Amino acid sequence: MNEKCKWCEGGFAGIDGPVHEYIESAPGCWAVYSGILAKEYESYNDMQDTHRLTVDTYAVQHPGKPSRKSRQSVMGHLVSMYYVLEKNMNGASARQKLKEFIERKQKLRWLEPPSFKGTLTVSDVALAKNSEEHKILVRKWAESVWQTWFRKYEKEILSVIME
Ligand SMILES: [Zn+2]
Repeated sequence: MNEKCKWCEGGFAGIDGPVHEYIESAPGCWAVYSGILAKEYESYNDMQDTHRLTVDTYAVQHPGKPSRKSRQSVMGHLVSMYYVLEKNMNGASARQKLKEFIERKQKLRWLEPPSFKGTLTVSDVALAKNSEEHKILVRKWAESVWQTWFRKYEKEILSVIME
């Protein structure tokens, strides 16, 4: 049986399985994501920069319900994506920016997520047959998700970054 993930709108095997505490997704979607993370951890070398984008993209494509943690998570991962995709920063530096953002403990309002219709999902990334394809697909997935957020909330994202 197939189950649609209500966030990324991808179709996944309808399974029972673990999901994240506040990054909401269908268990089938989370399982595909976990497989992608496993590839990055185990099978691939020099995946640091790609791994940064994978974690950020999944989090902002599955924002969940408004809460202190989810507000912080979504904006933090958007900040990291801003530096990687708009400023060509490497994964380690973007991670540092994310850490600084969290330490600033800014007051954040909940941003009503954009529709992710038409963006790529973890299913597209999972098709990669080798590490080069994987890197390219993660980048495409990240850019498609980033654009939906940035188009809608450029001002809000930049205001957090400028503070
Ligand atoms: Zn999903």
